[in-house]
Amino acid sequence: QTRAPAGARDPLSILKRVYGYPAFRGSQAEVVSTVVSGGDAVVLFPTGAGKSLCYQIPAICREGVGIVVSPLIALMRDQVEALKQLGVPAAALNSSLSGDEYSAVRRALSRGELDLLYVAPERAATPGFADMTRGVKIALFAIDEAHCVSQWGHDFRPEYRELGKLAELYPGVPRMALTATADPHTREDIIERLGLEKAEVFTSSFDRPNIAYEIVERDQPRQQLLRFLSRHEGESGIVYCLSRAKVEDTAEWLNTQGVNALGYHAGMDRAVRDANQDAFLKEEGLCLVATVAFGMGIDKPNVRYVAHLDLPGSVEAYYQETGRAGRDGLPSEVWMAYGMADVIQRGRMIDEGGAADEIKRVERAKLNALLAICETPGCRRQAILAHFGEAHAGHCGNCDTCLKPVETWDGTEAAIKALAAIYRTGERFGAGHLVDVLMGVENERTLRFGHTEMPVFGAGKDIPAKTWQSVYRQLLAAGLVRIDHAAFGALKLEPEARSVFKRERQVLFRKDRPGKGKSARGASP
Ligand code: ADP
Ligand code: ZN
Repeated sequence: QTRAPAGARDPLSILKRVYGYPAFRGSQAEVVSTVVSGGDAVVLFPTGAGKSLCYQIPAICREGVGIVVSPLIALMRDQVEALKQLGVPAAALNSSLSGDEYSAVRRALSRGELDLLYVAPERAATPGFADMTRGVKIALFAIDEAHCVSQWGHDFRPEYRELGKLAELYPGVPRMALTATADPHTREDIIERLGLEKAEVFTSSFDRPNIAYEIVERDQPRQQLLRFLSRHEGESGIVYCLSRAKVEDTAEWLNTQGVNALGYHAGMDRAVRDANQDAFLKEEGLCLVATVAFGMGIDKPNVRYVAHLDLPGSVEAYYQETGRAGRDGLPSEVWMAYGMADVIQRGRMIDEGGAADEIKRVERAKLNALLAICETPGCRRQAILAHFGEAHAGHCGNCDTCLKPVETWDGTEAAIKALAAIYRTGERFGAGHLVDVLMGVENERTLRFGHTEMPVFGAGKDIPAKTWQSVYRQLLAAGLVRIDHAAFGALKLEPEARSVFKRERQVLFRKDRPGKGKSARGASP
């Protein structure tokens, strides 16, 4: 195999000649030059910013093979195919290879013929891999989806932990960690776990200005979804659901409504699932209804919308899932419908999950951070970016709260009533019952527990029940109350609530926006 002359192996000429792009984007050039000259790098760029080139070009420039650790076989396959098309010798080592294919890759590796080799995380830091690479010149290690190393991240994979050994196993070989997840906690963890303290850290803004954000209160989810989809006829998009059953029901129902929808979840027959994914990637105008099993590493540039019918578990997950829209930079819309039931369900998933208490606490905090974004009366974009430690002036003009500003109201008195209802009933009841108490609803439960005799009973009749539901969500988002999942979703007071009782703290609530559906009653001016 003939190597290009040294002069042609500088990064910019490779970018032009191999990839056909005229210029580097953002800080790609700085990342590339850091690694080409032997330094380590942590690359925190949002989805679509072009992380792949950051390791591919140094791997081509430097002597030896670049080893890319990647968590998904499908993703490896796509990248290797794309590289081969560009004339870059690349291969992947994973469990899907036949014996012959495996030997061929080993042979190419030992002859120094490869510029890039993709490997699964469970393989990279093993003695077997060390054997295989003995005497092979390694240009760099790139650890893609590096947030998988952190249990604070939303996609922890224990096998990533082993990658911390690469520093000792391959001294002097530059290492890179790349991810589109950037909450400060996860960021620090990546650096520590992978031994990248000396690495240069590159960040770029996480703002996706072409994505419009909208978050609505769920009321008639199917009708609401249909209204949203009607803005995207003939376009490609993703509808995320929490459960497999809901994926199937929703896809089926959408088809009866004239929406060309396909399902995708991990429990489906593999052939059908792969066919649906392929169709979505290759054809236009399809709506893919999926669980979060769909998406990582998917590069479909013209996804015009992402809808969530259920609340994700964290801002990171929400950001990553919505980030699959508009990778081509063209205007795209993301939309989510959520309600209190989601918060309870997510909380239960955390509680019933096998994680240690410390992790559960972090997961609850992550859920609350997302809830706070749902309930913010301010700019959504500003709130999302603030979560990632990035300042934004707000008033983005491309989110629902900016386009249709929500009014706020001084809810101090209402907050006191809502908190009093919790306190008086012994912190043992969920929001539904508490709203009944405030509205003075005489039913089996309010009577049985003697709540009809309490001063708070009926004390909230001046405000609609729907508003009380929203008050409780906002109290949760503000950290004034918490959900006790062990007590079936009972609301409990947080110590902070005391300052509200004492009127030391004013509470501002966002006004419910009049719905377009059945809740439009009495909403006209
Ligand atoms: P990420 O991994 O950060 O989500 P990718 O590496 O998949 O992003 O890149 C996203 C898209 O941008 C790809 O289609 C890629 O070819 C393109 N791209 C990356 N860098 C450049 C560049 N400098 N000029 C033009 N296009 C680029
Ligand atoms: Zn905004």
